[in-house]
Amino acid sequence: MTNHERFSKIPTRVFEGAGFSRRPEVELSRRIFANRDLELSKVEMIGFDMDYTLAVYNKEPMERLQYDLTLQRMIENLGYPKAIGALNYDPDFVLRGLTIDKRNGNIFKSDAYNHVTRAYHGRAALSAEQIQEEYHDTVVKITSDDFASLDTLFALPEASLFTNLVDYFSQRLAEDKSVEPVQLPLHHETENRTRINTWKIAHDVRTAIDSIHKDGSLKGIIVADLPTYILPDEGLALALHKLRSAGKKLFLLTNSHWPYTQSVMSYLLDNRLEAYPDWRRYFDYVLVAGRKPAFFTERQPFDELVVDGRDFKSQTFDTLELRREHVYHKGNIKDFERLTGYSAGQILYVGDHIFGDIMRSRKDSRWRTCLVVEELERELGLFVKHREEIHELALVDEKRHVLDREIAERRSQIDQLELLLEEGAQPKVGVEILKDALAPAEEIAELLKTYNKEVDQAKRELRQLDEESRKLQDTLEDYFSPTWGMLFRENNELSRFGAEVRQYACVYTSRVSNMLQYSPMHFFRAPRELMSHDYAVADSRGLSNVLRIEEL
Ligand code: IMP
Ligand code: MG
Repeated sequence: MTNHERFSKIPTRVFEGAGFSRRPEVELSRRIFANRDLELSKVEMIGFDMDYTLAVYNKEPMERLQYDLTLQRMIENLGYPKAIGALNYDPDFVLRGLTIDKRNGNIFKSDAYNHVTRAYHGRAALSAEQIQEEYHDTVVKITSDDFASLDTLFALPEASLFTNLVDYFSQRLAEDKSVEPVQLPLHHETENRTRINTWKIAHDVRTAIDSIHKDGSLKGIIVADLPTYILPDEGLALALHKLRSAGKKLFLLTNSHWPYTQSVMSYLLDNRLEAYPDWRRYFDYVLVAGRKPAFFTERQPFDELVVDGRDFKSQTFDTLELRREHVYHKGNIKDFERLTGYSAGQILYVGDHIFGDIMRSRKDSRWRTCLVVEELERELGLFVKHREEIHELALVDEKRHVLDREIAERRSQIDQLELLLEEGAQPKVGVEILKDALAPAEEIAELLKTYNKEVDQAKRELRQLDEESRKLQDTLEDYFSPTWGMLFRENNELSRFGAEVRQYACVYTSRVSNMLQYSPMHFFRAPRELMSHDYAVADSRGLSNVLRIEEL
């Protein structure tokens, strides 16, 4: 059999990942995906976060506004040069789930095992060797104060500003210009050269962005022009109504304070449906300024707010019940469960913050969780659009694996034949290459020659396939982000963000109104978790490793 014939027999597999070949009941980009089984019929109460959950912000204007206000604040209050005002916001440079390394001035993506896989210093990419040098001998402890994780979309302009400033000051350093106010004092130096204090840059950006959130300057602008900053979602009112009609209790739990909550919620929901002239009618309980994650981890008391439009007065909450259409301030999970009478497993919380909304509510209680990842809509769209290329990549990778196996087998046969030739020995048990165990040396040598040629040829093919796979992979990742690739994946692993979503979110989806597509009694079933040996079992039974394994 010729090489070509032999290798052309490599089985190819049908790529059916992400359910592409199935007739979807709900359009892919509007689906709710389950990591753990979730029976909506058992959920009695559903809570919603507001910002980036019920309220979907218009990405570019919203991020640009935060970026510009923060930049301005750094110039006016923190001694940064006016020239930084010219640094432009690039909305495509940063991605949720990245990590800022304050000490080294880097921003990086890591995989599920916390290995740093791509990194930038300012806007300059670190080489594989630089990444190796800076990160591979140390365990990156993301919870340490040296790192900041981009857990919500609020963090994107902050990260973008940090990288722009690192870039700006690095360039000035290279040109021997002043890097005040971020020059490291020289006594910090081991060598006698100027360096930038990137930790201070991160700290100052944080201080400035925190102040624009807290002093009302950001929210004042948003509230004055809500249609510019908040995207309409026709399905939201209907989705909430559908859940209420099925007997679910609903509550709002947001970190935003009352006046802002009132403006945003009113814009989103007032008079959308006849039965709900006021947005508060949708909710049994309204909790604002919840200070999540402290809401889940501390026993902060509830205050009741006496509200009149956007105005309010706070009074200590001394009744033993939470009253419908009343508004509460702060509070805590323990008392909330006690006062509402629902236990953890009966409560589903829907939020966008992987740490503050999802991880904490799941770790500190056992609330069921739904993570809103609006980027999912775009990523799923790209998967569908480029499914031919994804299919092609799966085939190339499959061929690489088969070739790898075949080369290894041939090489072991070559070793055995060489031994035979050298020692003139009898074939040992297990050497099944020669029909006639006592084949003459010339015949063995001839066979060796053929096998070696085949292996050389196969290696050439493998190199070609490696190159093909790399190119396809790069092209595919460029569709998602030329800088960071896919949100949920990194090479063959999950990204850190993807791994966190899988671990903490019972279900996840691109927006709250996707709930409208499902019955309030729906059973979201998680796919069976697979380990490597499960794939092997599937293989041995002739099943493709990309088929859903329910068939096992
Ligand atoms: P939630 O998502 O509805 O819980 O609310 C998020 C709230 O946190 C919004 O009011 C944001 O303005 C606020 N927020 C986001 N980032 C920061 C920050 O860095 N400092 C202070 N408040 C913030
Ligand atoms: Mg939020």
